[in-house]
Amino acid sequence: MSDTIFGQIASGEIAVDLVYQDEDVVAFRDISPQAPTHLLVIPRKPIPTLDAAGPEDAELLGKLLLVAAQVAREAGIAERGYRTVINCNAEAGQTVFHLHLHVLGGRPLQWPPG
Ligand code: ADP
Repeated sequence: MSDTIFGQIASGEIAVDLVYQDEDVVAFRDISPQAPTHLLVIPRKPIPTLDAAGPEDAELLGKLLLVAAQVAREAGIAERGYRTVINCNAEAGQTVFHLHLHVLGGRPLQWPPG
């Protein structure tokens, strides 16, 4: 059993709208999209937050970014532009404590985020 919903998604216990998966990383559509394209990229390894990642995760963290870029290209949002976001801990709005990278695009995005 995995303790968060993303752990259950990573282990295949909960079905999602998958856009990519390999032995280390899973990417799927956010259930509550905040932009026309809103994807989530997660490691299968249950790292709770970015703050909990260590040097041993360096390659995995790099892979998350490369998968984010790949799924953004495949979703057709790369050329116009997209944003990647990692919310770390409560004040940043993190609600699921399994590291995940948001990929948002398909509309103009405001800066700074709220
Ligand atoms: P927030 O909930 O404030 O966006 P997070 O950065 O922790 O905080 O993001 C969790 C994301 O996971 C949310 O965008 C939410 O819509 C999404 N989500 C939660 N459960 C599921 C699910 N079963 N399938 C897809 N996306 C999910």
